[in-house]
Amino acid sequence: LLMSTTTPSSLYEQLKIHHTAFLKSAPNLYHSPLDVGIEVAFVGRSNAGKSSAINSIIGRQGLAKTSKTPGRTQIINYFQVDDQRRIVDLPGYGYAKVSHKTKEQIEQLLSEYLNHRQCLVGLFMMMDIRQPFTSNDLNLLEYVVGLQKPIHILLTKCDKLSRGAANQVLNQVNKELACYDAQCTAQTFSALKHFGVEQARETLGAWLLG
Ligand code: GDP
Repeated sequence: LLMSTTTPSSLYEQLKIHHTAFLKSAPNLYHSPLDVGIEVAFVGRSNAGKSSAINSIIGRQGLAKTSKTPGRTQIINYFQVDDQRRIVDLPGYGYAKVSHKTKEQIEQLLSEYLNHRQCLVGLFMMMDIRQPFTSNDLNLLEYVVGLQKPIHILLTKCDKLSRGAANQVLNQVNKELACYDAQCTAQTFSALKHFGVEQARETLGAWLLG
């Protein structure tokens, strides 16, 4: 008798994001799923912890591949939440050990996606809390602000710092974000310690539900 009377406690649960499944990989927009519905994309410097963040937010280990050889993927991975909504894993940038040509290909693919994808509603940006705002991060941030799309920053691997030190970085990042005329928010995050996952899920859920 108690069945089916509970209302979902969060946007995230309403969406059943844990049912998200791999949809396809694409080397360009031409081979991407049709540009309809709603997408939230994840982006960040190689090794910033993007794959780990996607897996812990979705709640499925191994969905996005975590890699010990960063910078190798020059593809966009699409995950399907439901037939209207997708989560997008964009290629990591800023890895020193790839060729100039590969770097250019990654930048080209990122700008192609960010510039033209109509169904993109917001961007999650991963930055290692010990190295926030590299020049690549700032370039990307300014680019997305120019597109007037919201950004939510995950300061990843916050388990590497004390709680106090992590919050200091967060305050500093928030100060810098206040300079931008756009919806830019930030939080501390640890996939390893499952810290900040609920907060990230609420932002993702709000964006995906529109
Ligand atoms: P990506 O290249 O941005 O997708 O990064 P990955 O998710 O593959 O992670 C890069 C490296 O950072 C891996 O060695 C992970 O184990 C490590 N890592 C990712 N998230 C965390 C975290 O929350 N805490 C710690 N300490 N390490 C992490």
